[in-house]
Amino acid sequence: MPSNRKWGSGFLDNGIFISLVNPAIALTLTAAFLVLWFYVRPRPYLVMVAAAYAASAFGFIFQYVVLPFGPAPTKLLSSVFFMTAVVGIAAAVIARFGRPIPWWPLGSVAAAGLAGFSWFMFVQPDIAWRVLVFNFALGAICLVVAGQARTFHREGRLARAFFVLGVLSGLNFFVRPPITMALSEPFSNYTDLHTSLYWTTALFSHSVLSLIIALCLFTDEALAMMRTLRSETLTDPLSGLLNRRGFETKASELLESCKASNLPVSLVVADLDRFKSLNDRHGHAAGDRVIVEFATRLKDAAGMRAVAARIGGEEFAVLLPMADPAAARLFAEAVRTVFSGNSIDGLPHDLRVTGSFGIASLSGHEDLSQLLQRADAALYHAKRDGRDGVRVSYQRKPEPPPAESGQQVA
Ligand code: GH3
Ligand code: MG
Ligand code: MG
Repeated sequence: MPSNRKWGSGFLDNGIFISLVNPAIALTLTAAFLVLWFYVRPRPYLVMVAAAYAASAFGFIFQYVVLPFGPAPTKLLSSVFFMTAVVGIAAAVIARFGRPIPWWPLGSVAAAGLAGFSWFMFVQPDIAWRVLVFNFALGAICLVVAGQARTFHREGRLARAFFVLGVLSGLNFFVRPPITMALSEPFSNYTDLHTSLYWTTALFSHSVLSLIIALCLFTDEALAMMRTLRSETLTDPLSGLLNRRGFETKASELLESCKASNLPVSLVVADLDRFKSLNDRHGHAAGDRVIVEFATRLKDAAGMRAVAARIGGEEFAVLLPMADPAAARLFAEAVRTVFSGNSIDGLPHDLRVTGSFGIASLSGHEDLSQLLQRADAALYHAKRDGRDGVRVSYQRKPEPPPAESGQQVA
């Protein structure tokens, strides 16, 4: 039909939709990374990624649109945008892993690539060399990223993925152009170039690599967000210690690993004394400060290997690996005396807040809840015996019955 003929001719005939694929993908990714940055600030590298994708969109647009100052300067502008895009992604990936961005190598390679491009555009016009020199510079930038990624490739799968992506992108820029150009008719102008095998493979590889890089970065952010949410569900916001759920999760793991290695392990529970009346007399905010102070003492004394938690309002628990009853008792006595011996900011200088402690050491095949029950029973005895003290639960052996002692409670 004549109308079909008319729609298929001229401007729309020249693969305009194919040529719009890359700018469309790049601008969509720009928007997606800006939205992501907005929600997970501060992450400046995400803005760099968004800017790099925007630059690549303009690089493609200025391949097809000629600006008023002429075709050659427009092509140079397009190349500046492409170079900015690749340097931007390279810098963003390196910044993502907390490394200083190697601006000198990146800038020097970019400047050399653009200088080579300009030489073969304005001084000694040769479109094939122009394309090759420019691609080699882009490839060298990818290899700079791969080289950097080797220093952080132990930091997880994403780091390894960027090492592989850097190498593959480098190969893509070094190997694909000479091969595809050797397989095509030599091109003498940009119309030939844009219909060549070289250009079709450039469009294809650019869109695939852009999407893979974006997917890697998005997955990375999603996993980081999930890790943050998960740790928030296990953490008590006031004290910064684990909450009851976090304690049950982490302490069960630690208990099982101590059982497997046949190591002693002890549970210490603590409850602040007469806390209700402290709240009534000095206010809830002062009570909160006391909780934070006690949590800090407990955390400092517990060390890295122990699992410390605030398991209730003014109740705390610490699972101490490699600690027998004597060691756990020393720990509890140390926390008790340091805490009750110091004043607390914002409370009367002579006011001393005390805590009571109960201890149970693993015996046989107990699980965490049985250990907690025994430690709670010991804590109850510490309260009953006047508070501000430490009591230990000694597991009874079935035969013969143990002799009662002053501090034997369960
Ligand atoms: P005891 O020596 O027998 O443990 O007496 P107590 O008053 O400490 O015991 P109880 O368990 O009856 O009271 C605990 C109080 O802790 C009740 C509640 O008002 C207070 N509390 C619980 N959670 C918080 C909190 O997050 N902040 C503050 N300021 N107080 C809290
Ligand atoms: Mg209490
Ligand atoms: Mg209590």
